[in-house]
Amino acid sequence: MSAPKRFFVKKVGDEVVLAGEEYRHAHTVLRLGVGDEVTLLDGSGKEYAAIVSAVSKGNITLHTLGERPSDREPRADVFLLVGLLKGDKTELVVQKATELGVNRIGVFSSEYCAAYMNENKLERLRRVAKEAAKQCLRSRVPEVEYFENFDGAMSASAGYVHKLFACEFLEKSEAEIPDMGASYCLAVGSEGGFTEEEFARAKAAGFTGVSLGKRILRAETAAIALLSVVMYRAGELK
Ligand code: SAM
Repeated sequence: MSAPKRFFVKKVGDEVVLAGEEYRHAHTVLRLGVGDEVTLLDGSGKEYAAIVSAVSKGNITLHTLGERPSDREPRADVFLLVGLLKGDKTELVVQKATELGVNRIGVFSSEYCAAYMNENKLERLRRVAKEAAKQCLRSRVPEVEYFENFDGAMSASAGYVHKLFACEFLEKSEAEIPDMGASYCLAVGSEGGFTEEEFARAKAAGFTGVSLGKRILRAETAAIALLSVVMYRAGELK
């Protein structure tokens, strides 16, 4: 038997109504009917068992049965900053980063970035994060933000304990990736990479340069590789 389908809602009470996008998914795609069990998520990290009590045009009403524990959220607070990529590559990074357990994703534009962002694309990235969170059984959806420039992205890194900057022109990493850290901010460039000057600004903002080896990785590979190593070092891939 497959696990109950998962739905993110704003607030969970005794009765919850699914409308809009979540209704369409529940009704049109999953064809849920009265008596089907689902899991509700309110983004707080809690999960709730609920049962479909009524289906009408545009709405599905659920009756909440109770809270159940969730232990799928990572303890480490990881923020991934990634340069805006061409085509659907940013979506790929958002999907994989969500599965690997990031808490927050910041997409930024920088000197050698050749892609552009708009409201629709940002909404699409948020939907990708939500779908990935459901699929991998997370109980929180990572926040997805856009920074119009490199300095905005650097400012957003304030407060993170470990800050790692994937720098393609470094011969070797300036330090080991710290293990069991409570919070990490990771920065990876777009297809065009970083300028020397951006690296200097990142260092001024507290980042340490890391190398991902002698080969130049595609930006999406670099983001997923660095995040995987950090999650491993943070003890999240056991
Ligand atoms: N255009 C750049 C060049 O020709 O050297 C390559 C940029 S690379 C496709 C995109 C991003 O992935 C880089 O800015 C960096 O953050 C990361 N990256 C790729 N390979 C890397 C490596 N070997 N070490 C560290 N970071 C790497």
